[in-house]
Formats: sequence, C-alpha cells, structure tokens
Amino acid sequence: MSFESLGLCAELLGAVAAQGYTTPTPIQAQAIPVIFEGCDLLAGAQTGTGKTAAFALPIVQMLSQDRPRKKRRNPRALVLVPTRELAAQVSEQMQRYGRRLSLRSTMIYGGVNIRAQIERLHRGIDIVVATPGRLLDHAERGTVKLTEVEFLVLDEADRMLDLGFIDDILHVAEFLPSQRQNLLFSATYSQSIRQLADELLDQPRHIEVARRNIAADAVSQAVYPVERSRKREMLSHLIRKGNWEQVLVFARTRYGADKLTRELLFDGIKAAAIHSNKSQSLRTRTLAEFKRGELRVLVATDVAARGLDIERLPHVVNYELSQVPEDYVHRIGRTGRASEDGVAISLVCPAELPLLAEIEKLLTYTIPRQAIAEFPQVPAKRGSSRTLRAKQKTKGQGKAQTGRKASGVTKSKKLQAKAGKPLAKTGQSPTPKKTMATRRSDGAAARPTSKTGRRGSRS
Ligand code: AMP
Repeated sequence: MSFESLGLCAELLGAVAAQGYTTPTPIQAQAIPVIFEGCDLLAGAQTGTGKTAAFALPIVQMLSQDRPRKKRRNPRALVLVPTRELAAQVSEQMQRYGRRLSLRSTMIYGGVNIRAQIERLHRGIDIVVATPGRLLDHAERGTVKLTEVEFLVLDEADRMLDLGFIDDILHVAEFLPSQRQNLLFSATYSQSIRQLADELLDQPRHIEVARRNIAADAVSQAVYPVERSRKREMLSHLIRKGNWEQVLVFARTRYGADKLTRELLFDGIKAAAIHSNKSQSLRTRTLAEFKRGELRVLVATDVAARGLDIERLPHVVNYELSQVPEDYVHRIGRTGRASEDGVAISLVCPAELPLLAEIEKLLTYTIPRQAIAEFPQVPAKRGSSRTLRAKQKTKGQGKAQTGRKASGVTKSKKLQAKAGKPLAKTGQSPTPKKTMATRRSDGAAARPTSKTGRRGSRS
C-alpha cells in the first residue's frame, strides 16, 4: 500500500514525502478511502497511530477541489479536540497540508483573549480546529458561522467525554448544517461513545485499527518500586546514569508538577512544568524550548500532556500513577511515536500498588519490575495504613501480583545493572477492557431528540 494508491494529489504526496512518511499507517490505509467515498466514519484508533493525517489529508484534498470563490470564507471543516495542545498539533498538520493547496486553517481554544480569534475568523478561514467550549462561545456570539461546515471531525472523542464536553459538543452540532460528513476517532468504545456516535453519525463505517499501534509496540515498559520519599532522587539518578537527553515526566497534580520541577532544578537538571494553571503562551513557550532540546525534563499533568507530539521522545516517566488507569495508555503513547523506540518507566511507591494493579488489569499483562541497587525494594510490611487498606480491597490480586512480580525481576537480571534501560519489550499492547468513565455522559443518553446534527436548526 502506498500513498499514491490512496488517491492523494501531487501536492499532498509531496507533503507526506517531506514529512518522511513512506507508507500509510493502518488507520491511514483504511480511513482515507472511506473518507474519500463520503461516508461517515467511526474509527477506533489510539494516539500514535497516525490518525491525524488519516483525516487531515483527505479533508484538505476534498476542500481544495471544491473551493468557493468568495474571499471571506466560512469554515467548511471543523475538528473538535479535547485540549489546546491537541488543537495545536492537529492545526499544525492541517496547516502543513492545507498551505500547499491554499487553504486557511486556524485554531480556537479557551484561556486566551478571544479578540485575536475573532479577527482571524473574520478574515475568512476554511478549517477550524477547536476545543468545544470556546467554539460554542464563538457560535453563540455569531463570530463564527458554522452553516457551511461540510466535515465534522471528533478527535479523541473519548477524552472529550472524559473532560465533560458532551453538552458543548451536542450544542455545537446544533449550529451545523444537516448535510455533512462526520468522522469520529476514539481510543476506546464505551457506551457513551456509542451514544455520541448514534447521535451525530449517519450509518458510519467502522474501522478498528489493531491495538498494536505504533506507540504501544515500540514502547518498552518497566516499573521501578521505590519509596515515595525517594522518588525524586531515583528520577535524578535515572536521568543522570542513563544519560537521558530528554524526558517527559508525569505528575498527578499541578502542585506536584511545580514542586518536582523545583527539585530537579535544585539537582541541576534543566526542567520546566506544563499544566493548566500556566498561561497558554507560557505553555507554548515551554513546549517549544523542550522541542528545541533546551530543556532536559518536561514535567506535565495529564490534561496538559494530552496531544503533545514531540518527535522521537525517548523517555516517559510516570512519577506518579494517575487515578484513571486509561491515562497510563495515553501517557506511554507520548513515547515510541512514529516507529521510534521509546521507554516508559513508572516509579511506584507502596501506596500506588492498587493503582498499578488496576492498570495491569486494563492492559491484561504485567509490566516488568526493575530494581536499582542504590534503591532497595520496599518491604511490603512498610506500607502505610492506606496501602494496607487498599491491599485489603484488592485482596487476591495481591498474591498474583507478588508471583508475577518475582518472575519479572528474575527475567530482568541481565538488564538490571544498567539503570535507565527498560527490562524488556513486552511485545504486547494495551487492550483496554474497561470503558472510560464519562462525567457527563448521561446527557447524551438523556437527549430526547434524534441525530442532533440533522435537526438543522437550534432547539
Ligand atoms: P498521530 O496518531 O496522528 O498523533 O501521529 C503520531 C505520529 O505518527 C506523529 O508523529 C506523526 O508524524 C507520525 N506519522 C503519521 N503518519 C505516519 C506515517 N505514514 N509514517 C510514519 N509516521 C507517521
């Protein structure tokens, strides 16, 4: 399968070649023909599979073939995304491809002054990449006219539901014309995703790319058991001894991210934090510094990190495990991108063992354990009362855990000496079994009307 055989025009073939893409990824090979056919699409694809180009390329090509003559154009493609960072990443690709075909695209997200966005929209735009809340704001003010939208893309739809955007999405859909092509991309298929698809899509074609995506396949994972109080020390040790040039570190809270950043700086390791309390301009600047290699460590919270696309990011560290097991899959998707090998390491203290058990249940496999001589493993009896309570809750799992843990360590002996190197490539990929919890998903189910997007007018 080649990009030529997918029917892409010369300009876009030039653009993908310039990106260094030689063959389409599975999601691209399957989705591009369906989109060219004009069908609605429900695609199961995780981050790192190449899904952005899978919808951006055909949309850009089709928009360019049928261009309105007027100068002040209204958007004809709308991509809804969960976060500003993903908006930036998708918008960058839309611009890269669209520029070659004289299409204009822009991104719209909250947390920044609305005036500049209004001006850009006023000048005329073909493609809008937006977070739902701010776009709704524009639609309600009348500063964006959505009646000419031909393509609606919901990217990382599961994450949008997770973040409580369901009502905003459905409300935005009420501004759209009934005749349009709808594409929904989601890493997981929960009941709420199916309801959203029922509401917005019209007889969609289904595509599910193998869970063995670029990211998961290329990622070696390891767990380093460590006492909570020694995590920062262990992180500095791994970075130094492993000569890690660049690492993305996940903290659970904004406070924790800032604290860790200060501590790393104190250790002489150039680091900066990125989270939702930082202004958008600071986040953009920090990310740019990291991409230029001026920062060795980027400490991020889950929401801030969603959508970060950093070429060849070699290391991801879970400094703290997320309360949401699915976040683990998203986090490790930040490394091993675009066929590059990546290493995802989790520093796990006794209190986090129940969370680790949840993650492994979701993955359906055990992440190999690693040890470093300087950081002896924490004996179980030293766990806090919280840990013990949690252990009681996961009774039964604990035993299996211990057994698997032992075998993981044995297998790793040769590699243990080399701090910072992963234990082994699992060769397995995450197969989320559990559906993602959605905070406001009931809204979708409860809506009495059929296909919102087909109502044509606002209720
Ligand atoms: P995405 O899933 O859209 O976030 O893409 C993940 C990564 O895959 C990005 O770094 C893309 O540049 C890269 N990518 C997309 N398509 C291809 C391709 N056909 N070959 C190699 N890398 C690709």
